[in-house]
Amino acid sequence: MSARTIGIIGGGQLGRMLAMAASRLNFRTIILEPQADCPAAQLANRQITAAYADPVALAELAADCDIVTYEFENVPVEAAEMLARNVPVYPPPKALEVAQDRLTEKRFLNGCGIPTARFHAIDNQAQLEAALADFGGCGVLKTRRLGYDGKGQRVFRSADESPAGAFEALGGVPLILESFVPFEREISIIAARGTDGAVACYDPAENVHRDGILDTSTLPARITDATAEAARDAAKKLLDALNYVGVVGIEFFVLPDGSLVANEIAPRVHNSGHWTEAACVVSQFEQHIRAIASLPLGDPRRHSDCVMTNLIGDDILQVPNWLSRPDVLVHLYGKTESRPGRKMGHVTELTAGRR
Ligand code: AMP
Repeated sequence: MSARTIGIIGGGQLGRMLAMAASRLNFRTIILEPQADCPAAQLANRQITAAYADPVALAELAADCDIVTYEFENVPVEAAEMLARNVPVYPPPKALEVAQDRLTEKRFLNGCGIPTARFHAIDNQAQLEAALADFGGCGVLKTRRLGYDGKGQRVFRSADESPAGAFEALGGVPLILESFVPFEREISIIAARGTDGAVACYDPAENVHRDGILDTSTLPARITDATAEAARDAAKKLLDALNYVGVVGIEFFVLPDGSLVANEIAPRVHNSGHWTEAACVVSQFEQHIRAIASLPLGDPRRHSDCVMTNLIGDDILQVPNWLSRPDVLVHLYGKTESRPGRKMGHVTELTAGRR
């Protein structure tokens, strides 16, 4: 295999883990990221230190790479489209367009036959009040763009809660009101599609969030085979509809009857798929590199049960304890400064199946 170069837009831990996986398969990597000495660049061959939409930097990336990918969904669509005129960009820029706006995302999912919460677009306070009335006073109000980890959200739990001032309080930007989903648990599925249209799905993970941030992903999820099959079906429909190439993460709510409601899609490797590096032969990171490089997809089967735990902020102080335990894979992101809410690393503990 001749050495080829993969460009990665974004320099965080996901880019870092993609760069590691790429290097094992003899690819070179170039990171485009404005922050110097970012986690990804520490392990890549080169960094272009510039804004994601910098036209000179994008031209350099296109000229020096054989394939370009990204590690976060807020890459400017115009930048991805500009690149795509000169070099293959995977996943396709259309996936960014869909994932960047919760309204577009829900419409797209529904168009693929994948159920979501009911929703209304909210552009002013009067629309918010009408929409809340339609949902009996309950719902989850979210910014359409740039929200993540529970940021840019307000939950209305009962009709007694006044929505006065809520539109302005979220910044006066376009919002979406979702009906409140009475879910029993949350799961996600990590799936990949190759340039030849082949699809591979990992087992769904059961996710628990703390303060709006993923805390743990547990395998197997406590769901029936039928629910797992429904998650795989939804992933395949979405991937085919987008003519997708690469790894995607899809988050779902599981209702008490086992049916699924899609919450959001991430057109990239996903935090709830980190367990794959310890419990599968081919991790989600290698799978993504294989997919975008037109290599055969890896076997997504899991050889062990496991629990992945994020190390957030001062959780990093627990690393010595984790290191002293058997069956635990520790993965740190090279971030020197720990802050509350900052993802510093993760650990995956194999809980059964390996021996
Ligand atoms: P999100 O930013 O959309 O991933 O939402 C963060 C978390 O808020 C989710 O993981 C759920 O726990 C909760 N949540 C979001 N939307 C809804 C909804 N429509 N109904 C109930 N809970 C929700």
